[in-house]
Amino acid sequence: MSAITLDIRTMSFMSTSIAFLYAIGLLVFGRKQMKFKGFPRLAAGSSSFGIGLLLVGLRDYLPNFVTIILANMLITAGLVIYYEGTRQFLGGSNRIHPVGLVALLLQLGFFYTFIYLYPSVNNRIIVISLIATILSVFSMQELFRKIPKHWKVAGNMTAYIFLGYSLFQIYRVFITYRENSILSFMDAGTVHAFAFLAVIILIAGTSFGFIWMVSKSLEFELTELANHDQLTKILNRRGVATLARQEFSKMSRSASDLSIILTDIDHFKSVNVRFGHQIGDEVLAGFANLISNNLRPFDIFGRIGGEEFVIVLPNTSLDQAQILAERLRKHVDDFTYSFNGKDIQITASFGVANYIAETDTLEKLIPFADKALYRSKQLGRNTVTHYSLQDKDLKNE
Ligand code: GH3
Ligand code: MG
Ligand code: MG
Repeated sequence: MSAITLDIRTMSFMSTSIAFLYAIGLLVFGRKQMKFKGFPRLAAGSSSFGIGLLLVGLRDYLPNFVTIILANMLITAGLVIYYEGTRQFLGGSNRIHPVGLVALLLQLGFFYTFIYLYPSVNNRIIVISLIATILSVFSMQELFRKIPKHWKVAGNMTAYIFLGYSLFQIYRVFITYRENSILSFMDAGTVHAFAFLAVIILIAGTSFGFIWMVSKSLEFELTELANHDQLTKILNRRGVATLARQEFSKMSRSASDLSIILTDIDHFKSVNVRFGHQIGDEVLAGFANLISNNLRPFDIFGRIGGEEFVIVLPNTSLDQAQILAERLRKHVDDFTYSFNGKDIQITASFGVANYIAETDTLEKLIPFADKALYRSKQLGRNTVTHYSLQDKDLKNE
């Protein structure tokens, strides 16, 4: 069986075409979305790779200065620009990081040395591979440090591709160090021909990763948008229902408590009439904020109607929920909203109910809290009423 042979010139032309194809793809994709920066730089990095790899393949047709020094400078510049694109994509500053410039200058110095002073193809390969390792590790750690939670898988995959590229370059250093002197790069072994393929894997894999991250981030944004109320920024009915479903299903498997509070602002129509709808909106947002600030992190709070809100309280007994509702009622009663020099005070009514086996969904429990809320309104508002499902009874205490 003959050894695998990869022809360096063929590899060079192939990888150049693919690098350009990806550069165009990254550029067009980047222009068609507004959210993420960095795509023009990623495309420029990919192009720089492409030109560099092409020039390497033109050895013997163009002066050595072009096919060795310029070609390798462009390949390293490709990695530098790619790193800058990665940083920009992750929201980093537009200022260029010094590592790129240092890498390029070092490479120029070493290449000059190993071409003109102590000619050695092996040493040149070692230098360019070590520099590629460092730059690739920089991109990797940038990703690991800055990936937000909701696109962790896509971000990690991208980072691992940079890691894989670094490991390949280290392997290449190791092989080159032990190898006999390479007389011409055109006749260098498989590992060096594979270096072209490695660049393609890097560009193709990470491009996919960047696009995947954009898609994940948009998906996250859409879900947030679909589950939140634009005015108050808290959950909407759909968002509450989604989170509550998990809490209710936990309840059917455990013996803990769960309660809900329904609250509705009193005479809110008159706020609109007296101060205008816009101020009414501000009061609603302020009210939501006031309640949010007085809940525990695991309580689920959402706006389920115009000026009607629900709070789902996991691990909370009816008594505890009543105490909380009373505290919230007092906070609302005491608070003064100030808008455009106008002071506005509002009150709210509360209805509390707690989970029993028959009310195993939020939809089934809400009507009981609503009965209690209705009683609070009947009793003159600014009141807390609870519905005891055990006693099938409405109570105010
Ligand atoms: P009650 O004490 O019985 O609850 O009286 P109310 O006036 O608060 O109740 P009603 O249900 O009759 O009116 C609710 C009002 O809330 C009507 C509507 O103008 C106002 N509203 C609902 N959604 C919004 C909103 O998004 N912004 C503003 N500014 N007002 C809203
Ligand atoms: Mg109301
Ligand atoms: Mg209402």
